[in-house]
Amino acid sequence: MIRYRKNFFLKHYSLSIFLLTFSMFIFASGPSIDFEEVAPGIFVHQGEHLDVDETYHGDIANIGFIVGEESIAVIDSGGSLKIGNELKTAIRKFSKLPVRYVINTHVHLDHIYGNASFVGENVDFIGHVELPKAMALRKEFYERINLEFLDVPNDQSIQVAPNILIKPNESKIFDLGNRKIKVTAFSIAHTKTDVTIEDMKTKTLWAGDLLFTERTPVIDGDIHGFIAVIDKILMLDIEQVIPGHGTPTKKWKEAFLKEQDYFKLLRDEVRLAIDNDQDLQLTIDTAGQSESKKWELFDIQNARNINQIFPIMEWE
Ligand SMILES: [Zn+2]
Repeated sequence: MIRYRKNFFLKHYSLSIFLLTFSMFIFASGPSIDFEEVAPGIFVHQGEHLDVDETYHGDIANIGFIVGEESIAVIDSGGSLKIGNELKTAIRKFSKLPVRYVINTHVHLDHIYGNASFVGENVDFIGHVELPKAMALRKEFYERINLEFLDVPNDQSIQVAPNILIKPNESKIFDLGNRKIKVTAFSIAHTKTDVTIEDMKTKTLWAGDLLFTERTPVIDGDIHGFIAVIDKILMLDIEQVIPGHGTPTKKWKEAFLKEQDYFKLLRDEVRLAIDNDQDLQLTIDTAGQSESKKWELFDIQNARNINQIFPIMEWE
């Protein structure tokens, strides 16, 4: 009996050592980010629904890549060089083809700071015509966030601005080898720098932060512009949408309409508050509240949205 127990202990002890070593190996060799192939050749990693505060780890946005017959396009590179490197390593598990394009859907830090991982001779960076300026304007602010929450020193908060620029209401097509993708830029909406990427082969639209599913949508541009851009997207002939945050969806019209309903409600209630001479704080406490159960991180983000739109709408 004693002997049995001893063996039992030894067996389990060695098993746990094995598991510990194995998991350390996995951890050390990375990548720690997982991907889902949402359509043939389209791989998406979903970031976590966390705010940019002390919980921020740089991995909160959806990032991923599209594989053609000759090359690969990366779409959004994550919030840090670390995430960019993990993305680069992960791509190699699925394809040996070269990364030819890195496309940023917009300026926000959780989507752009992995760009530096992909700098190379034959790599073009694609973005909205306003993106280089917007990156430069936010550089110091983003460096402070990366230092404070990610512990990344400023010389490793590396911005890589796009060299291929798309103007609002224009599209450019890029061929990955028997696979064309269409990058379209928009006027001010979520930000001043929004582009979408349409994979024409599978009719999949990568919407960036023009679509949030689950997480409260963010207005860092203009609420009227955002509502109008959604109307344009609703007319597209597509089958699936990959949001900037949240789960990719084939019920994409419903998802955009849910987002647009929130914006219309917010617009109307903020307008009414301004007409009634209500101040900003009272408006933050009251406007949009009937949407609070429909979205994650609602209180903080709804307040920020009102902060953004209230001063603009006061002048209308
Ligand atoms: Zn964003």
